[in-house]
Amino acid sequence: MKQDCDQMATKLLSVAEAKQNILDNITVVDGQEKLAIRQTLNRILDTDIQSTINVPPYDNSAMDGYAVNSADLPPTGEIELKVIGKSFAGRPYDGKLNTGEAVRIMTGAVIPDGADTIIMQEHATVTESSILISCGHHKGDHVRRIGEDMKTGDTVLKQGKLITPSELGLFASLGIPEIPVKRKCRVAFFSTGDELKSVGEPLGEGQIYDSNRYTLFGMLDRLNVELIDMGVIADEPSAVREAFQTASTIADAVITSGGVSVGEADYVKDTLEELGEVNFWRVAMKPGKPLAIGKINNAAFFGVPGNPVSAMATFYQFVQPALQKMMGLKDNFKLTMQVPCMTKLRKQAGRLEYQRGILSYNDNGEMIVNSTGVQGSHILTSMSRANCFIILPAENAGVTSGDLVEVQPFSDII
Ligand code: AMP
Ligand code: MG
Repeated sequence: MKQDCDQMATKLLSVAEAKQNILDNITVVDGQEKLAIRQTLNRILDTDIQSTINVPPYDNSAMDGYAVNSADLPPTGEIELKVIGKSFAGRPYDGKLNTGEAVRIMTGAVIPDGADTIIMQEHATVTESSILISCGHHKGDHVRRIGEDMKTGDTVLKQGKLITPSELGLFASLGIPEIPVKRKCRVAFFSTGDELKSVGEPLGEGQIYDSNRYTLFGMLDRLNVELIDMGVIADEPSAVREAFQTASTIADAVITSGGVSVGEADYVKDTLEELGEVNFWRVAMKPGKPLAIGKINNAAFFGVPGNPVSAMATFYQFVQPALQKMMGLKDNFKLTMQVPCMTKLRKQAGRLEYQRGILSYNDNGEMIVNSTGVQGSHILTSMSRANCFIILPAENAGVTSGDLVEVQPFSDII
């Protein structure tokens, strides 16, 4: 009874307040390593990158065609230009082009001295040793300028950037062989629950397989952190205490699933309180209301709920941005869009909901979203079928077909 009163007295934090509170309590890990270009993929850049060269390093052609001098371009009619040589990518023409002359040129080849304009080969009538070009071309057409992409001295990348395939290419374009990146965060994770069995073990009466350690593995692995899988911990205060203590000494962040509500076998919050500090534990969101956030020693602690969808939704909304901050990521843009929802959605006002949705295009090519169906927090297939969260604000009291809703796509191409 007392517990119920305490529970009622604890104000539910809004999702935004909870996110802010979490981020305010996270510090970026110390430590850097220098890695070869390919090893830096999915790591966080730990320095600004200044260009020491111009890219491209010289004016060059954007087309296969002919390099000409714009002074020769005819204002009306046509002109004939003598073709005096060739400039290929990697094999420049080493002479100078005079008035009345053109040089055959390929994409990426150096623009010869005396030329400033490229005529696409499709726009030139080729005769034996000359070309005919007509009016309508302009000075500078199809010329890529020196330094147009990156200039010597430019700050090309800022510290805190996630390194994606584009950055690997940029490092290579600049000729930088080794790049300083943040060290990886060490994350320990485990499941709590007497009912949990690991894959490979037979299921007894009242037991289920531990799926959260697998979804957590997947979500953490994608963040490119160093993983420490501590298995399943029994609903037993001493076992939970020991696991917390061990985890907090070996990891920068500890993630547990289950045991955060107010059931008789829920020891996570109390143990966290005993060994460290609890910052908060109840958030006005669905799925995933109970959520233990705090600290043990220097390790950040995240206790996500046991229900499989709640575990994933709270991970994506709270734990992922927190770990990204810890990893040193500065630009943490998450795409959301307003899209008409074609399914009626049931919801009570009060908590922000992350329903599972399927984005698609209708027959007119317009983007729409539909519900995955039953939204129970134990229905993991709803996450598997979904390609987005449908985010319904706390005050929303239901959606009728055609209403605009905010969606957060699960992934994009990069
Ligand atoms: P709890 O948060 O411990 O009260 O658990 C809530 C629900 O999630 C219960 O039905 C648990 O059996 C289930 N659950 C807890 N942990 C896991 C897990 N690791 N994998 C799958 N289901 C779980
Ligand atoms: Mg439990």
